[in-house]
Amino acid sequence: MHGHSRRTLALFRGLTRPGVVAFLLAVPALILGAWPTAGEKPAIDFSSKHDILIRSEDGSLTPMDVPYFKSTLVAPGTWQILSDGDYSYLVEGEDEALVIDSGYGAGNIREYCQSLTKKPVRNIANTHDHFDHTANNSYFERAYMSAETKKKATIPFPSFEGITFPRDYPIEVIGDGYRFQLGNRELEVLEIPNHASGSLAFLDKRERILFSGDEIMPMGVRLNCSVAQFEKNMRKIAARRSEYDRLCAGFGVFDASYVDKFLANAQHVLAGHEGGPVQPRPRPAAATDAPSGPVIYGRRMPRPGDVPKNIGQTNEYQRRMSYEGCDITYDIRRVGE
Ligand SMILES: [Zn+2]
Repeated sequence: MHGHSRRTLALFRGLTRPGVVAFLLAVPALILGAWPTAGEKPAIDFSSKHDILIRSEDGSLTPMDVPYFKSTLVAPGTWQILSDGDYSYLVEGEDEALVIDSGYGAGNIREYCQSLTKKPVRNIANTHDHFDHTANNSYFERAYMSAETKKKATIPFPSFEGITFPRDYPIEVIGDGYRFQLGNRELEVLEIPNHASGSLAFLDKRERILFSGDEIMPMGVRLNCSVAQFEKNMRKIAARRSEYDRLCAGFGVFDASYVDKFLANAQHVLAGHEGGPVQPRPRPAAATDAPSGPVIYGRRMPRPGDVPKNIGQTNEYQRRMSYEGCDITYDIRRVGE
């Protein structure tokens, strides 16, 4: 304590009078959290990737370091944000607006979202840790996520080597039952771990949406947990089905009836039915159109080096159950709890 105050005195002695004034003015601003604001957060530097091109859905090509943002209003005060990586969402209440997932595209997604709403955009909430959902968390004042997500958030995929993504942003750990109060709009947190061990869904009763991250994919769900755990996850959100009609997911906006379908499928497997063998699926094609040409990635599409090695590989224990119009790929050694 004593040593500390002596250092503080030495600091003041070393400052000129205007310096002291500037220091004293800065202190309350820091305490109030008024600095840095959205615009002053240091930009994440993508310039080392300038020669890589991203092909958008309309066929146009943009250098990877050039910010690209588009938004679609999906409900009142609710925007789906396209940048790169999976979709983000901007959720506006009467007091503030919250961003769900931060994508991995170049540019300040917080500033972009602030251009869409008059309510302050301060915080980010993550459905799960994967880099295509957490790369740009550091633009926000605070990131809300599960304890499991905190361990692995904002760890770059291999294709981002050479870019520094800050991981030292303030984090608040949340879980089941936590409620974001945005002003006449509440988001309730539901833990549904499978795709990622720390996955959260956010239930928006006002607009009847469940923000579900990557946990429910219409093209099929690959289980990382047991079938029993997956059934428990689906049962948990199916129990709230009267409160939402749509899923706003990392991959797009879907009808919430997929929750019922996946629940029925999981219960079918738990009742003793076994899925068929899994045919290997081709891994994403090479990123380059021609061997000598520039590297081109599809916007929002996984890049070859970033896909976990076990994806697309099959083994003798894997089964795929197609039932009720959806697919579950699971391991026969991990059916029960
Ligand atoms: Zn994911």
